[in-house]
Amino acid sequence: MKKVNLTCVECPLGCDITVCLEGEEIISVAGNGCPRGEKYARNEVVCPKRVLTTTVRVSDGRMLSVKTSEPILKSQTMVAMKKINDVIVNAPIKIGDVIVKEFCVGVDLVATSNVE
Ligand code: SF4
Repeated sequence: MKKVNLTCVECPLGCDITVCLEGEEIISVAGNGCPRGEKYARNEVVCPKRVLTTTVRVSDGRMLSVKTSEPILKSQTMVAMKKINDVIVNAPIKIGDVIVKEFCVGVDLVATSNVE
């Protein structure tokens, strides 16, 4: 049996969670203070995802902060960053504007700052 120790990042309590696996199968999840922690731990072990936050270039040389509208697979982070490096936007841009629609399947790239 394999044990994976995680710290839940779903709320500031940061519960220490232990996931026990038999091969690929999750046998138990312990230490979580609420159901959100169990869901987080199961996803983290099977297919970890993160919201990607970064910047893209504005055509006048400034930078615009952006994030994915939903978490993406951690394993796709490098591919996503290469794609983002090719993005150049034109001002003005407002927080929440979609910078790249369907950046990944079902996920947009959205602005998290304003550029006038
Ligand atoms: S398991 Fe629940 S209580 Fe514990 S850190 Fe995660 S969200 Fe918070």
